[in-house]
Amino acid sequence: MFTSNPTTMPNPKDRTATARLLVVEDEPSISGFVRRGLIFEGYDVEVAESGRAALEAMRDRPPDLVVLDLMLPEVDGIEVTRRARAAEEADDLPRVPILMLTARDAIVDRVAGLEVGADDYLVKPFDFDELLARVRALLRRVKPETDRKPAEVLSYQNLAMDLSSRSVTRAGQEIELTAREFDLLAMFLRHPNQVLTRSTLMQRVWGEDFYGESNVLEVVIGNVRRSLEIDDLPRVIQTVRGIGYVLRST
Ligand code: CA
Repeated sequence: MFTSNPTTMPNPKDRTATARLLVVEDEPSISGFVRRGLIFEGYDVEVAESGRAALEAMRDRPPDLVVLDLMLPEVDGIEVTRRARAAEEADDLPRVPILMLTARDAIVDRVAGLEVGADDYLVKPFDFDELLARVRALLRRVKPETDRKPAEVLSYQNLAMDLSSRSVTRAGQEIELTAREFDLLAMFLRHPNQVLTRSTLMQRVWGEDFYGESNVLEVVIGNVRRSLEIDDLPRVIQTVRGIGYVLRST
């Protein structure tokens, strides 16, 4: 099921380069984390810090999708959704997909949000990868069938990763990886020949809450390298001294 022809591999950057996302969140730590991650995945991202700013942005610069926190000062997320849907209906405009962010115990809000026209929800705290999966699914839903190119398989030279079965092979041999190692390798495969900084890797694989001078990244990189360098196959994850790492053959 894997193909070794790199030209047939879907490129997430190509697929998402034009999508414009509006992130509505008043907590800078969360909006910053979401914004950086989405920009890194190739999206064009605007942040609104209040419901009022969100409605203005949706009116003046209609996005392809809105990530909307429900807990906002003054005009909350439910009201933003209600007003946005009313405006779309009044002007006969297409519905912009809305992904709500809700608190774990706010089931009432979740139901209310879906009732007023939100498309999906994600419970805080969430992993960035989960957010990304929901964003991609919602964007796919509104795109015509011909634009659909699900990124099921990532590959680089003789290395192939099946995202749906979470399996990895190198030169046809199955590679065993932990969940963390798999996520880390997926990052490299999504950005071949691109230097990824230590902080980018830490943020994306461990999340925003990771602090300190721990060598956990080096340990996991070491494990991935050992797993990939079977049968004296050459190293593909190279160290870029003082900066980070890059997926590149020597
Ligand atoms: Ca909030």
